[in-house]
Amino acid sequence: MFCGIVAGEVPAFRVVDEPDGVAFLDTRPVFKGHVLVVPRRHLVALADLPADALAGYFGLVQRLAVAVESGLGAGGTFVAMNNKVSQSVPHLHTHVVPRTKGDGLRGFFWPRTRYADDAEAETYAARITAAL
Ligand SMILES: [Zn+2]
Repeated sequence: MFCGIVAGEVPAFRVVDEPDGVAFLDTRPVFKGHVLVVPRRHLVALADLPADALAGYFGLVQRLAVAVESGLGAGGTFVAMNNKVSQSVPHLHTHVVPRTKGDGLRGFFWPRTRYADDAEAETYAARITAAL
């Protein structure tokens, strides 16, 4: 689906089309001006993005975050990416959503939990560190 948009075969409200990626409006925006930024290549998740494409792709995401804010007169933005879980389209995409103070967005439902103790927290930190 997003490959079709990149190729120009599927209609979309394009914001920008560059070698590093294509940005277009989400058809079901959280707020109007909600943009999706996708790499031209079909990559499913962030882990699939080659190291040499990071600066170009995220540079584009950064420019869009600035542009969504200034272009729409927004107070700021929410920039987010789902990987695999809750990822509705299996083509890497970053959401850039305009935010305004008092816009009513409570954020996503993020239930908070607590570590049983410091040892458990250290174990989680160590497991992530070991995987880097
Ligand atoms: Zn694709």
